[in-house]
Amino acid sequence: MTKFSEFGLDEKIVKSVERMGFEEATPIQEKTIPIGLAGKDLIGQAQTGTGKTAAFGLPMIQKIDQKNGDVQALIIAPTRELAIQVSEELYKLSYDKHVRVLAVYGGSDISRQIRSLKKKPQIVVGTPGRILDHINRRTLKLDNVQTLVLDEADEMLNMGFIDDIESILKEVPSERQTLLFSATMPDPIRRIGERFMHDPEMVRIKAKEMTALLIEQFFIKVHEKEKFDVLSRLLDVQSPELAIVFGRTKRRVDELSRALDMRGYVAEGIHGDLTQAKRMSVLRKFKEGKIDVLVATDVAARGLDISGVTHVYNYDIPQDPESYVHRIGRTGRAGKEGMAITFVQPREMGYLRTVEQTTKKRMQPLKPPTWDEAFAGQLRIATEKITEIVTEENLADYKAVASELLEKYDATDIAAAMLKMLAKEPDQTPVHITEERPLPSRYGGKGGGNGKGKGNYRGGGKGGYRDRNNSGKGRRGSNSGSRDRRPNGERSGGKGNYKKSK
Ligand code: ADP
Ligand code: MG
Repeated sequence: MTKFSEFGLDEKIVKSVERMGFEEATPIQEKTIPIGLAGKDLIGQAQTGTGKTAAFGLPMIQKIDQKNGDVQALIIAPTRELAIQVSEELYKLSYDKHVRVLAVYGGSDISRQIRSLKKKPQIVVGTPGRILDHINRRTLKLDNVQTLVLDEADEMLNMGFIDDIESILKEVPSERQTLLFSATMPDPIRRIGERFMHDPEMVRIKAKEMTALLIEQFFIKVHEKEKFDVLSRLLDVQSPELAIVFGRTKRRVDELSRALDMRGYVAEGIHGDLTQAKRMSVLRKFKEGKIDVLVATDVAARGLDISGVTHVYNYDIPQDPESYVHRIGRTGRAGKEGMAITFVQPREMGYLRTVEQTTKKRMQPLKPPTWDEAFAGQLRIATEKITEIVTEENLADYKAVASELLEKYDATDIAAAMLKMLAKEPDQTPVHITEERPLPSRYGGKGGGNGKGKGNYRGGGKGGYRDRNNSGKGRRGSNSGSRDRRPNGERSGGKGNYKKSK
């Protein structure tokens, strides 16, 4: 493992990296940073959450001439969320060097962006459409770009941005360094490499190197009908600090988030049909710890940097192993431990084996928790909470009344009442989840299509998603009535203060 001080980066940059709390370079950073510094072109293949931004960002920042007000580096990213995320990371990495970073993306006021562009950003991160728009309006000049990055290139391909990208590439001086990152390498991406890059170096971080260390992987064999009760109990027993539940379709995501909400969990869903604003607000709430369970389709969660996820639940096993690797990559990041639990219908066991062949790691079987175990889990959490308050908080104001209570009632009864108030009984509220058929038992044969069937990240689609029955688009938040059912609705302010306060 390499320390950041060993790459020959400016002191100021190393200082910013330290400020961010990075101790050692990740594998992709270790390989990419020297190539980046040497000015060579590069094609990097690695899954989400491996630290690609710093991998291309640090050499890029090193090369920025602060005295020059031209745009010197351009990063193209598939979505607004990603563009914002990358720009925030670059801003932090260049904090001590004082580089100006700007994100430009659609769906946001263009005249404000034009004003920001006039302030001479040195690094611009943007989505393809908006970058082209600014090029055409002559509000973005790229004649002095030295470094060009295509981030999540396969995703841009899936979203149909390939022509836009080619148009942008033609606007950037050919005497530049180009770095391309992609989780998969379908042919059109390779061709970009051949056509627009000079003798690129290939860096590939294999999925198995990434998933191995910190993520405990389990599977539970469960029939479709029982999945939801098993999920509720798991949440009760494990009491995850931050959890993501992955569902195969948008309908699933809607139904699951509503059902979880009905059973008293603080859950929200994201998928591609939600508005930009809604997705952003859900993500923000999740990052701030205001939502305990995020329910998502693959595509909605892809590439987003959501850190601190402790548990990933695959409500449906993904169709292809790469999706699985992406999903569980949401947890166990940056040195933190994580747990992934995959539900498998008996007929889908073949898929599980295929996933295991890819990750080269066996998943451990897990038994669905019983009601008693779920209840015990909730009691344990309530007890931890009481212990924490007793030992750490100033209770002076409560003691007088507490003594009165103790005179009237037995101490054990009072403690029991407190537990009853705090502990959430495993909730059996009936919910409706539309059944999905198991995946076809023969794996493969995806029939035609480009990208070797990897396009499944698009979420939705497969698995017979129809709009019927999806009574509630944009209906989240209207089910507020269920919230009162929580014995204790308040959440502690500080992160990780109490694990869960329901
Ligand atoms: P990717 O683009 O590969 O999905 P990111 O660049 O978004 O990954 O990084 C994922 C997360 O890991 C970010 O929160 C980032 O700050 C953090 N990170 C990156 N490099 C390191 C490192 N060397 N040590 C610890 N955390 C890191
Ligand atoms: Mg990234």
